[in-house]
Amino acid sequence: MVKALFLDRDGVVNFERSEYTFRLEDFTINNGIIELLLNFQKDGFLIIIISNQGGISKGIYKKEDVEKLHNKFIKECKSNNINITDFFYCPHFPEIENCLCRKPKSLMLEKAIAKYNINITESLMIGDSERDMECAENVGIKGILIKSNKINLKILNPKFLNSKS
Ligand SMILES: [Mg+2]
Ligand SMILES: [Zn+2]
Repeated sequence: MVKALFLDRDGVVNFERSEYTFRLEDFTINNGIIELLLNFQKDGFLIIIISNQGGISKGIYKKEDVEKLHNKFIKECKSNNINITDFFYCPHFPEIENCLCRKPKSLMLEKAIAKYNINITESLMIGDSERDMECAENVGIKGILIKSNKINLKILNPKFLNSKS
C-alpha cells in the first residue's frame, strides 16, 4: 500500500481567480506548490489532483481545455523532477447533470484509492474549500484546509503530520 497527497486544483495548485480557469495564460502555478510537492514526493507520497470542473457541463470550456492545463502542469512538474501520479476531475454541474463525483461527493477519491491501492490512514488532502474537507472526510482521509492561493509554511513539510495539530 502507498500513501497519497491529494490536492484540489484551483486555489491550491494554481491561482484561484474567482472565475473559471481554462485558458493556458490564466493558469498560474501558486508559489510554494513545487516545493511542497517535492517535499511530499521525497517522503514517498503519490501526488493526485482532484478537481471539480463544472464549467464543462455549463459549456464554458471543454475537456480538451482541462487536459491542456493539466499537461502544462505535468510538464512544469517534470522539469522539477516531480511526478504527478494522476488527475481526476468531475465535468458535471449539479443543475445540469447529476453525478456521484462532484466534491463534496467522494467518487473521485474512491477511484484513486482503488486504482493505486492507497492507504487512507497515511494520506491527506489539501484543499481551499469546505467541500474538499468534506470529500476527504467521506472516505476517512485527513483534510488540510488552506486559504486560497496560500501555501503556508506549516504544510510545506509532510512531517507536520506527525506533530499534533
Ligand atoms: Mg479550490
Ligand atoms: Zn461529476
